Amino acid sequence: LGRSRGTDYFKIADQLTPTERNYLDRTRRFVDDEVLPVINDYWERAEFPRPLIDKLAELGIVGDGIAGYGCPELSPIANGLISMELNRGDGSLGTFLGVQAGLAMQSIAKLGSEQQKQRWLPAMARLEKIGAFALTEPDHGSDSVALETSARRDGDSWTINGEKKWIGNGTIADVIVVWARDVADGQVKGFLVERDTRGYDARRIDGKGSLRSVWQAQITLTDVRVPEADRLPYANSFKDTGRVLAGTRAGVAWAALGHATAAYEVAVAYCTERRQFGKPLVSFQIVQDRLVKMLAEVCSMQLYCLRLGRLEEEGALTDTIAAIAKMNNTSKARQVIAEARDLLGGNGILLDFHVMRHLADMEALHTYEGTETIQTLIVGRSITGVGAFA
Ligand code: FAD
Repeated sequence: LGRSRGTDYFKIADQLTPTERNYLDRTRRFVDDEVLPVINDYWERAEFPRPLIDKLAELGIVGDGIAGYGCPELSPIANGLISMELNRGDGSLGTFLGVQAGLAMQSIAKLGSEQQKQRWLPAMARLEKIGAFALTEPDHGSDSVALETSARRDGDSWTINGEKKWIGNGTIADVIVVWARDVADGQVKGFLVERDTRGYDARRIDGKGSLRSVWQAQITLTDVRVPEADRLPYANSFKDTGRVLAGTRAGVAWAALGHATAAYEVAVAYCTERRQFGKPLVSFQIVQDRLVKMLAEVCSMQLYCLRLGRLEEEGALTDTIAAIAKMNNTSKARQVIAEARDLLGGNGILLDFHVMRHLADMEALHTYEGTETIQTLIVGRSITGVGAFA
């Protein structure tokens, strides 16, 4: 699917429909022409690339495959290819799209009322409205199932109190999907909170060494009043939250493929040009061995992704499959990018060569949406029947 001499050794491109191919090409052009020339500066300045976000809207790729409500018609594979390509360009942009469409829009599409869908989804697909998904708390990350943010019903409205951490878009979103525990029945429920609601306070988390061009927030909710009409009616327990997360974990597997492809392509190009001991680096057997192993991992990640897409199309994507894919692809991508970084020698740590940014960004992908360990334990529970983490 990549370029240079290509990473498509298993002819994945032959498996794509013309429409999927079109989304791939369109996103690829955007990344090559608009993202790569400018993104390192945004990353270095930790600046949100607003002009690129506006162009994303024009591309018509925001909607995560949601049917109707102004969202583009995207098959799971088209959606995955978009995520792969955006992340090949930059992890912050890819993460922005994952939060906007995969987490916030999908929460509304899967768990919201008809009125909520009509109000938010078309505007979010056009990026006129930005969304966030607030699950993680300062004291509950891997065990977000134990979240402490409380929701108390009082007639026709709810009062929400608590703290959230690491919430992508939390300072800029128009609507934040806040997960809170109903004090009456102890179940986790979802609420649509608008940013200007009294008691909603979001502060940007600064000093990040990863995904520097997309912002996460620490949020305090103090007696935030939400009308019953803004509660997600089909979010009645943490299991419903999990329905949203299974899809986005598969999306991270595609994203990891994009990061690994970028690093591999830079490494091949660099080792072809760079000469040491009077010869190009690619003429040394050890360098070839390393490039081949990187390619083999990239190809295996592609095969995972293709099957993920097909299984999603068939409605057969399970939590366990999404967990295996997220675990495998983020771990493999991390290794491939580290190899590329090393093959570039000293230049490997310069932003100009892009690999360092991917190496840093991959660290966040490895952790968010459930760490590698948590994905491993989800799969371990499936193969042994024994839950080792709850
Ligand atoms: P912890 O849960 O404290 O984990 C620390 C370490 O302990 C990890 O290595 C973990 O694997 C390990 N560990 C934990 N439990 C076990 C166990 N039972 N057995 C063995 N090891 C264990 N959240 C949102 O809600 N919305 C967002 O938009 C969002 N965006 C994010 C963006 C970024 C850049 C980052 C870094 C995080 C984001 N998150 C978001 C939060 C993310 O999902 C959590 O960081 C992640 O789930 C891990 O939680 P934690 O950071 O609290 O780590």
